[in-house]
Amino acid sequence: MINVTKTYLPPLEEYVKYLEKLWASGTVTNNGVLVQELEAKLAEYLDVPFIQYISNGTMAIQIALRALDIHGEVITTPFSYVATTNAILWEYCEPIFVDIDPKTFCINPAKIEASITERTRAILAVHVYGYPCDVKAIDGIAKKYNLKVIYDAAHAFGCKLNGSSLLNYGDLSTLSFHATKLFHTVEGGAIVAHTPQMADTLIKIKSFGHLGDEYYTLGLNGKNSELHAAMGLCVLPNVAGIAQRRRAICEVYDNELRGLGIVFFKISQDYEYNYAYYPVVFQNETQLLSVKQTLNSNQINPRRYFYPSLNTLPFLRTRQLCPISEDVSSRVLCLPLYESLEKQDVLRISALIKKVLRMS
Ligand SMILES: *Cc1c(COP(=O)(O)O)cnc(C)c1O
Repeated sequence: MINVTKTYLPPLEEYVKYLEKLWASGTVTNNGVLVQELEAKLAEYLDVPFIQYISNGTMAIQIALRALDIHGEVITTPFSYVATTNAILWEYCEPIFVDIDPKTFCINPAKIEASITERTRAILAVHVYGYPCDVKAIDGIAKKYNLKVIYDAAHAFGCKLNGSSLLNYGDLSTLSFHATKLFHTVEGGAIVAHTPQMADTLIKIKSFGHLGDEYYTLGLNGKNSELHAAMGLCVLPNVAGIAQRRRAICEVYDNELRGLGIVFFKISQDYEYNYAYYPVVFQNETQLLSVKQTLNSNQINPRRYFYPSLNTLPFLRTRQLCPISEDVSSRVLCLPLYESLEKQDVLRISALIKKVLRMS
C-alpha cells in the first residue's frame, strides 16, 4: 500500500535515548527540558525570534486568534484543510472567504479589499502546499486597514523567501507538526511570534493563563509533552535530508508528467521550497476520479487535498461564492510523496496516470 504520505520515524534507539533521560528526570510535561530544547532548536533552524510549541496546529490557530484578541470577521482562504476554517468558527469569529489566485492557489490579495467591512479584524491566510502567499500585498492591505495578519504555515516548515524565513511575515504564523506533515512530533504545532511581549502572552494562554501562583488571563491547555518534544528532537536533524529526498522524487514526477498540463506549480528563483506536497490538477473532476480509481485499484492512495472548497462546508451560516477555489478543489489531487518512496513506485504511479489520461 502506498499512501499520500508516510510518517518519518527516526531510528528507535534515538527515541529511546530521550526516553531514558525522561525516566531519569521524572518530568514528562509542563514546559520540561525537552520542550525547551525543541523550541530553542526550532527557533534556530527556522530562523525566527520566538516560537511556542503547542499541542497541535489547530490549537495554534485558535490561540493565535485569542492572543491577537480577534472578534468579528476574519478574511480567509477557501482552499485549505478544514482546520483553518474550524479554528475561526471555534473562536466565535466569522470566516469571510476570499477566492484564490489561480496561479498559486493562495488567497488572492487583489480580491481582499472588496471584502473588508467595519467588522473585519484579521486576515488568516494559508501558504497552501508550502507555496508562499503574496505576503507583501497582504501585509500592505493589513496596514492600510489596521488588520492583524495570521499565516497558517502548516505546510511551510523551513520555506524561505529571498533567503529569509517565510514565517517572519504577518503578526503571527502557525505551524502543524502532525504526523502527516513534513516535520512532525506525532501530534504538535507551534506559533511564531516577533516580540517578547507576544511570546509571553502565548506562554500564558497555553498554560491555563497562569504562571505559578500568578494568574493573568483566560487560558487553556495548549501545551505539549516531553514525549512529543523528544520525537521532534529526533526528527529535526533529519528534516533537511528528508526535504532533499522529497525534492528528488518531485523531480522524477516533473519529468514523467511534463507536457500533460497537470503540473501547475513553478517554484520561483527567489523561493526555497520544502517539497511538502505534489499536487496535480486535472481537466475536470471526472478525469480526477478515474485517475484516483485506477491508482486505488493498484493499492496507491493519493488524497484530494484540498476538497471540498471550505466555503461550501455544510455547517456555515452563509453561502459565499468562490468559483475558482470550488473549481480547483474539484480537480486537484496530491500524489504520494515521502522520503522513503522508491523511484520505481514514482515511475509506476506516473505511468498509471499517463495511461488514464491517454484513454480519457
Ligand atoms: C494539518 C493542518 C492544520 C491542522 O494541524 P493539526 O496539527 O492537525 O491540528 C491546519 N491547517 C492546515 C493548512 C493543515 O494542513
